[in-house]
Amino acid sequence: MPIKLIVFDVDETLWSVNVTFTSFLKPPLRLVETNEIRDSQDAKVKLFPEVRELLKTLKEKGILMSIASLNDPEPNLVLECLRLFKIADYFIYPQINHKGKNRNIKTIVKLLEEKEGIPINYPEIIFVDDQELNIRSVMKGCPGIKAVHLGKDIKNIGQILNLI
Ligand SMILES: [Mg+2]
Repeated sequence: MPIKLIVFDVDETLWSVNVTFTSFLKPPLRLVETNEIRDSQDAKVKLFPEVRELLKTLKEKGILMSIASLNDPEPNLVLECLRLFKIADYFIYPQINHKGKNRNIKTIVKLLEEKEGIPINYPEIIFVDDQELNIRSVMKGCPGIKAVHLGKDIKNIGQILNLI
C-alpha cells in the first residue's frame, strides 16, 4: 500500500535538544541560526540538517505529515520551535501531549477522516521515533503501521524517503 501519512516524533527525531525534552527549555526562545534555537539559558535545539529537504520532498509527493510528541501542551514549546524554524505549516493536526503515541496516531487518523474526508489505514502510515518503547507500543496499538526506529532501521531521518 502506498504511504499517505508520516507521523514524526520530535525530540531526537526532527531535532536534537540538550535538555532531554523540548518542554524543559526556558523561554523566551530565539532563532540564532537557520537550524538552531537557543533558550534563555542558552540550551540548544538543533534541527537535523536533512529535515527541511525531507519535508519539502514529502509535500511535493503529496504525503501528509503530522506529529506525535510527548511534551507539555501548555506552554507548547514544540509548536514554538516549529514556528521559529518556519516548518510548522507542514504538519496537519500535530499532537503534542502526554496521552501516548498510539492514542495520538488514532486521533490524527480520526481528524483526517472526519475533518478532511481523508480515510487512512494503518498500513498507509509510517511512524518514526528514536525510542524502542514508542515503536513497540505503536506497533501493538496500530496494527499494520510501518513503525520505523530512527538509529536502528534508518541512520538519519532523510532515509525515510527510501521507505515510501
Ligand atoms: Mg524522541
